[in-house]
Amino acid sequence: MPRGEGRLRVAVAGAAGRMGKETCRTILASPDFELVLAVDRSGGGPLGDILGVDSHGLMLEGKLGEGLDRVGADVLVEFTSASAAPVHAEMALKRGIAPVIGATGLDKDTLRSLAALSKEHGTPGMYVPNFAIGAVLMMKFSEMAARWLPDAEIVEMHHDRKEDAPSGTSMRTAEMIASARKQPPTPKPRAAIKVEGVRGGAHHEVPIHSVRLPGLLAHQQVMFGGQGEVLTIRHDSLDRGSFMEGVKLCVSKVWDLDGFVIGMDRLLFE
Ligand code: NAD
Repeated sequence: MPRGEGRLRVAVAGAAGRMGKETCRTILASPDFELVLAVDRSGGGPLGDILGVDSHGLMLEGKLGEGLDRVGADVLVEFTSASAAPVHAEMALKRGIAPVIGATGLDKDTLRSLAALSKEHGTPGMYVPNFAIGAVLMMKFSEMAARWLPDAEIVEMHHDRKEDAPSGTSMRTAEMIASARKQPPTPKPRAAIKVEGVRGGAHHEVPIHSVRLPGLLAHQQVMFGGQGEVLTIRHDSLDRGSFMEGVKLCVSKVWDLDGFVIGMDRLLFE
């Protein structure tokens, strides 16, 4: 349950980054939330100058722990990196602040230890590799299709500054396809491969092809082949606003959750 009446108090880590700035603007514009802390390692200076909107005199700060101790918060939204996010989430959980982690690339062991910490401190948390509601639906529809069409390949396309590959979304999609299949995919011949890697990298027997190009943001196409038919399920995030409905949903609902939850499925489908 939310911890008090009134607006949820939100801190943002990675606030000077692309996702962090969009999140700060979204929190500032929402009547349900109050932005109480904005942290980035590039910290310093009025937040309003960085965001280009009125930020009620908030300053961008450099140290998350100090900021959280000073102002407190109900929720921490985390958009830094795979290495900094677990450290920040740990800081939040130990202070009874619910982390909503958007930074991608966290491995299973890290998620397991965050789940244990969440339980120990009786504080919920979320790891959400994709906040776009359309992307979550794309994954769900792919899971449905895999029951009947076991031969699938994923093409995920992102901007050229994305650090991890393949994307967390594509790996999760492959896992969902693998567990929904009623029969294994048709074996494919290997003999004629002339360039190593040209068939993508297989995750749970689903080839994933990662494209990195300037001009792209976040896109994924899941293709299913059957006898004389191809089904293509595609999602495009065209700007960072596409992630913000999901961010708002998770911030407002994280305190309703029991423990540490991965993805938005529970909020969208249960
Ligand atoms: P970015 O490089 O623009 O922003 C990251 C920011 O974090 C930078 O301003 C950087 O200074 C700051 N930072 C890094 N380490 C820090 C630390 N230790 N302490 C404080 N600040 C630190 O990157 P971005 O495009 O905003 O993406 C951020 C993360 O979000 C990436 O992991 C990306 O893959 C992920 N992402 C997730 C979603 C989603 O829907 N979950 C969508 C897009 C991007």
